[in-house]
Amino acid sequence: MEFNVAQLLQESTGATRRYEGLREEVAVIDGGEQVPVEGDVTLTRTPGGVLAAARLQLLVGEDCARCLTPFEAPLRVTIEEIYHPTIDIVNGQRLPAPEDPEAFLIDEHHILDLTEPIRQYRLMAGSLAPLCRPDCRGLCAVCGADLNDSAEQHQHERPIDARWSALNELQTQPSKE
Ligand SMILES: [Zn+2]
Ligand SMILES: [Zn+2]
Repeated sequence: MEFNVAQLLQESTGATRRYEGLREEVAVIDGGEQVPVEGDVTLTRTPGGVLAAARLQLLVGEDCARCLTPFEAPLRVTIEEIYHPTIDIVNGQRLPAPEDPEAFLIDEHHILDLTEPIRQYRLMAGSLAPLCRPDCRGLCAVCGADLNDSAEQHQHERPIDARWSALNELQTQPSKE
């Protein structure tokens, strides 16, 4: 997701560019998976560079943590990052690198590329336990069947491991004499 900021860099602090309704495929994982990214981006000239503010929605592929079914989930990310120019827009001289080695840079062709922060924010915002739906019933602990596809009363007569059956009877039939 690239923006040419050559013009913006020549304007005074506070000048902005607003891009609405963007829609692009962005590679959010190294060497792989391009996902659709939609949203709005505002670029603002600051004394030291350009502030990129973006509200984006990504459609990312996940595997449900309970039933293991792959599904696509929308993921909202809000980005606010300062980009530092590498070339002085007025005289074309190379500028000293910013002190922060992690700082985002505008390249020598005055291109500001949002791909890297989108990647980083996607990793931070991604869920550790994504669910295909909030009430996913997961897999049966005994036979591995997907309980979303099974009858409401999916259950087993008795646990397969006999060591558990005594315990099971204690728990399910406490009043039995
Ligand atoms: Zn699921
Ligand atoms: Zn089962």
